[in-house]
Amino acid sequence: MSAQEREITPASERREALKEVYAQTQTCVRCSELAATRKTVVFGAGNADAELMFVGEAPGASEDEQGIPFVGRAGKLLETLLGEIGMARSEVFICNVLKCRPPGNRDPQPIEIQNCNEYLYRQVELIQPTVICSLGNFSTKLLRDDPTGITRLHGQPQVLTLGRRAVRLYPIFHPAAALYTPRMLETLREDFARLPELLAQGAPEQPDWTEVPEVDPRDLLDAEANVERAGADATGPSGPDEADQLGLF
Ligand code: URA
Repeated sequence: MSAQEREITPASERREALKEVYAQTQTCVRCSELAATRKTVVFGAGNADAELMFVGEAPGASEDEQGIPFVGRAGKLLETLLGEIGMARSEVFICNVLKCRPPGNRDPQPIEIQNCNEYLYRQVELIQPTVICSLGNFSTKLLRDDPTGITRLHGQPQVLTLGRRAVRLYPIFHPAAALYTPRMLETLREDFARLPELLAQGAPEQPDWTEVPEVDPRDLLDAEANVERAGADATGPSGPDEADQLGLF
């Protein structure tokens, strides 16, 4: 991606806006069951200006405990595979379709995905990744808005417009599935090996928004958040926020 494209809204401003979305998610009660059973809301973690973003399914028990995505065995595998292509976890941004753990690790329900997808789309708009790796079926189906499964799609990059931005979507198997199936791990490793080449292609051509007035990333937040922010602005800063304290991004 050209520097100019990524600099239209400075990374520092986008990160501040991301922290506001983070704050919004921490009190989310859109899914009453998940809100009642979760220990933490797992927003996502990593580089807020990452070129590469991973989107998994939903937090598991360890993630729910720690408030950080992919900290269990699947996360360790993801880190190993990243290391094999010369990348560190701190360079990328990792999040999930659902920000809360479904009880008993059941599948996310359609209404939960619908309730939560606005947060994911905001993350994409604010982080502005060049490549999004969807891990497994749930994120691939959501981002492509199509029911085609991961077995057919893995390893095939496509350009997708999400919100105002074109990104390269790269569906791959979910590392949790690969943990138990050696053939799948082999395929996941092969797909991972093509990531550096895909990143090197840079951002796809962006849609022409010259007719549309430029958007302040803060305006991506809904009215509720803006009212909260107005309150915070009026009362002044109250120390470092939680996202910073946790070193999330
Ligand atoms: N599986 C996921 O999809 N997400 C996590 O955060 C952990 C395991």
